[in-house]
Amino acid sequence: MDPKLQVRNPPYFCWKMKTDPKDKSRKSAVERLRQRSQNKLDVTSLTKKILSGDLAALSSGITLCESQRPQDQIKAAELLAACSVHTTKSIRIGITGVPGVGKSTFIEAFGEDLIAEGHRVAVLAIDPSSQLNRGSILGDKTRMERLSKSENAFIRPSAANNALGGVAARTKEATLLCEAAGFDRILVETVGVGQSEIEVRNMVDYFMLLMLAGAGDELQGIKRGIMEMADALVITKVDGENKTASKLARKEYQNALHLFPPSGKDWIVRVFLTSALENDGLELVKENLNEYVSRMTESGWLNQYRKQQEKLWFEKLLKEKALELLRSQLNLGEKIDELQSEVSSGNIHPHVAINKLSQAINQ
Ligand code: GDP
Repeated sequence: MDPKLQVRNPPYFCWKMKTDPKDKSRKSAVERLRQRSQNKLDVTSLTKKILSGDLAALSSGITLCESQRPQDQIKAAELLAACSVHTTKSIRIGITGVPGVGKSTFIEAFGEDLIAEGHRVAVLAIDPSSQLNRGSILGDKTRMERLSKSENAFIRPSAANNALGGVAARTKEATLLCEAAGFDRILVETVGVGQSEIEVRNMVDYFMLLMLAGAGDELQGIKRGIMEMADALVITKVDGENKTASKLARKEYQNALHLFPPSGKDWIVRVFLTSALENDGLELVKENLNEYVSRMTESGWLNQYRKQQEKLWFEKLLKEKALELLRSQLNLGEKIDELQSEVSSGNIHPHVAINKLSQAINQ
């Protein structure tokens, strides 16, 4: 990769670009440089570097997977195929919760615990900046500062803007590359906004929902569906005056969990009380994770679940490709946009819109 592009880390870079609209010429110059370096990129040597644990190469590989350019997509597919043969036995962990619940503080402390246990930890954080506000939350350099300094950690934020459902389009690919680079605990962080949780649930083995005591579910924006997908509920910031309310909240959540239909796997979801600031309760969450992994592996459930996830991944890529072909090769981009706005303004029924699109395809 061109050394000029390695000077700044991606989140800062993206943030700079977004908040500096006047700086278009600089943006295109940097984009040209990036494209030139991607054109020169040799997949075989990139694969070797990633497999040797080279973090700069890992970042380049993820950037390649995130690229929308057709040439890059071909190289990305080669890279993923080459790397997938070498992935370690990793465990993928999803972590969700509304902004402010304490996700990054928790991930930092939890990540350090996992490293202390002998693991190598990658954190893939889905940057909500493009949806929620213009400033990048993850661009804030104070986030996970300690963890980012560890040689056994890799932190990579991805923008959420270019994906179908709002979740970073290539988080799954990033997971795979991190595994190839020797990371065996992959933490995927996302913000509790609905669709992204379903997508993240479909790419991880164990899914944690972080919640605050004292804030009603509605206030926390937590939908029942998200709670239903969780393998563990973690109440955060259980310290100081929060302790009593947290114990009460635990009872309430535990009761609510009993009302959910069985998940189809032999697992009882527990509610944990934690304080990441005081490093309290995290050990129990880690034990719960380890127990989950060994039980789900032994029963064969995890293996089956991963196969199902591969199928969903293929279906997702298929939808993306079909849409891309309709837009670019059949020049139906404008027609699709037009039908979409007609449907959302209630002027035509979605079925009628699809029929119109079919007619346009067959013309
Ligand atoms: P995120 O937006 O979900 O990633 O939340 P952060 O990890 O950035 O935390 C939001 C705020 O809550 C910060 O001011 C943290 O210092 C604070 N916070 C996080 N964890 C704890 C905790 O365990 N106890 C207390 N008292 N505050 C916490």
